Amino acid sequence: MNLSRLSNIFEERFHSPCRLFRAPGRVNLIGEHTDYNAGLVLPVAIELSVVTAAAPRGDNKIRAISLQLPEELEFDLAETSPSARGQWTDYVQGVAHTLTQAGYPIRGANLLIDSNLPVGGGLSSSAALEVSAANALLALSSVEAPAEEVAFLCQKAESDFAGMRCGIMDQFTSSLARAGHAMLLDCALLEIEFVPLPADVRLVVANTMIKHKLQDSDYNQRRAECEQAARLLGAASLRAASDLSSLPAHLLPRARHVISENARVAAAAAALRRADPAEFGRLMAESHASLRDDYQVSCPELDTMVAIASAQPGVWGARMTGGGFGGCTVNLVAADAVDSVCRALAHGYREATGINPVIHVCQPAGGASELPAPSSRTSPEPALRQSEC
Ligand code: ADP
Ligand code: MG
Repeated sequence: MNLSRLSNIFEERFHSPCRLFRAPGRVNLIGEHTDYNAGLVLPVAIELSVVTAAAPRGDNKIRAISLQLPEELEFDLAETSPSARGQWTDYVQGVAHTLTQAGYPIRGANLLIDSNLPVGGGLSSSAALEVSAANALLALSSVEAPAEEVAFLCQKAESDFAGMRCGIMDQFTSSLARAGHAMLLDCALLEIEFVPLPADVRLVVANTMIKHKLQDSDYNQRRAECEQAARLLGAASLRAASDLSSLPAHLLPRARHVISENARVAAAAAALRRADPAEFGRLMAESHASLRDDYQVSCPELDTMVAIASAQPGVWGARMTGGGFGGCTVNLVAADAVDSVCRALAHGYREATGINPVIHVCQPAGGASELPAPSSRTSPEPALRQSEC
């Protein structure tokens, strides 16, 4: 991403200098559909990010433009009950509204959004957008908020305003991640343990380029099924359930996935602590099978990408990542096999599906931060690193 270009476009559009607020996407190594069940997740923030260029306005309005999507946002912060419009601007308006409702005195601002994350690709562009916008609005208003609180308010905005009933993993990762580490997050206790990734493994993310039309409603339906299962078991959440035998046939596999996945996350974190990629990879394969068969959120293209990866020398493990129904797979790959694995994934997937995938080699990145402004319009281009092969 070219930050000088972003600043220049901002100045041309809004006639003032800007500040830059980056928030990363994430790839979840293991622990899928467990966050909204008070379970365990093990994500990594990545360098692919959303950057919000921002400057204060003299009035109470928020204007927001994206370099990726067409609609524009303009609304007055004094509006007490704004309604969602069913477009990307809901994420920004939802964040501004949620911050205001929570008592943070947000002032009017112009925002220009840029991103090198795939939109809707399962790498959490939505949370990155929310967290970068929230940090921009807070900083321009000289208001401090702890990173955890920012994450919670962004999740509330996505869930309550934009209508996607997500858990807390994406916003927590974008807000709080640590470079070089995976983040073991207990979504019930809200405890975080940062576990370093071994130096000789790489994360290869393969985008199937598939986006299921009913992604959001299917996601919300899975969540409703989990809540129903917990209710029937008399448990506060599926985290607290163990004997599933009384569940009806359509709910049993859903609950079985959540409970087995939590156990896999705990085992995977232990494997990571002792730098055991073989065991970690075995748990990734089990996770994929459980998501495909019990939770039923995979799709033929994700299964194909995982099958191709699993047959490659140097791949410790492969699985779908994110909510599913398309999007990306994550692969744990020996550092010296990365090039051949990227080539095999690109070639094999194109042969099998006729689709050109996009493959990223991701570095475990740090959480959201303000970036230094590019010094002048003629300075050399600062860029956010993005690796694609
Ligand atoms: P994911 O978070 O996995 O990328 P989601 O469906 O949760 O997928 O979020 C994608 C949505 O986030 C987009 O449909 C859009 O509304 C919003 N979004 C993401 N990136 C951008 C961007 N660069 N500009 C504007 N909106 C964006
Ligand atoms: Mg999202």
